[in-house]
Amino acid sequence: MGIPIGQTSTATVEATGLKHEQCIWCRTEYVYEFTRQAAGRGSSLLFLDNAGAEMRAHQSAEKALQKEMAKAVEPVRCPGCGKMQPKALSSVRLKRGLSTIFGGLAIAFVAWIATIFIMTDSTFDARLSTASTIAGLLAFVAVLLGVGWWVLFDPNRGRNYLKGINPEIADSALTVEAFEALIEAEEESERMRQDEQEQRRMNYEERQTELRQAAESRKQAEMQKMAERAKRSIGS
Ligand SMILES: [Zn+2]
Repeated sequence: MGIPIGQTSTATVEATGLKHEQCIWCRTEYVYEFTRQAAGRGSSLLFLDNAGAEMRAHQSAEKALQKEMAKAVEPVRCPGCGKMQPKALSSVRLKRGLSTIFGGLAIAFVAWIATIFIMTDSTFDARLSTASTIAGLLAFVAVLLGVGWWVLFDPNRGRNYLKGINPEIADSALTVEAFEALIEAEEESERMRQDEQEQRRMNYEERQTELRQAAESRKQAEMQKMAERAKRSIGS
């Protein structure tokens, strides 16, 4: 039996989207920008299809990105009333609550091992029981903190614990009207830029024409002089 060897390709893609939302509290319609990343993998067994592996990695990354974009929701404050939407808050709660619990459990596990190693003077049973007590307590605190955070966290009531929500994201929403005005202003400045460019081009062409005409009349004057000189030399 052989060991399967081949190439594994990975791809990362990123996209920025615009989310349109309506506040459930005050019905204000608003938009905000968000960015998502996704990664994908593709493999090529025995190196037979490396280009295909890269393509598959890219395709699976794109697919994952589309899913991420579709369900993306950011904790932004409504520009109308300043509140955040419950579904955005619950996703922050879930993420931060779970990471608090799992982070705490990891610390408890490390403490359990460390205690067993540190208490070298005691019997193994004593070490095990002390380690378990410490780890158990830490795990309990971790779960308590995670659940407590989950329950109490509510920026809509001024309880944005541990800066759970990045203020830069929180204040990134614009009302639909403000957003449209912004787009309008951007288009206007683009139009002005294009007009200016067009004007510069026309000025340049005008100048070129003038120069050409000046050169032309100089040439004609010169030819006339030559013709007169020739006439005079024949006449004499
Ligand atoms: Zn609102």
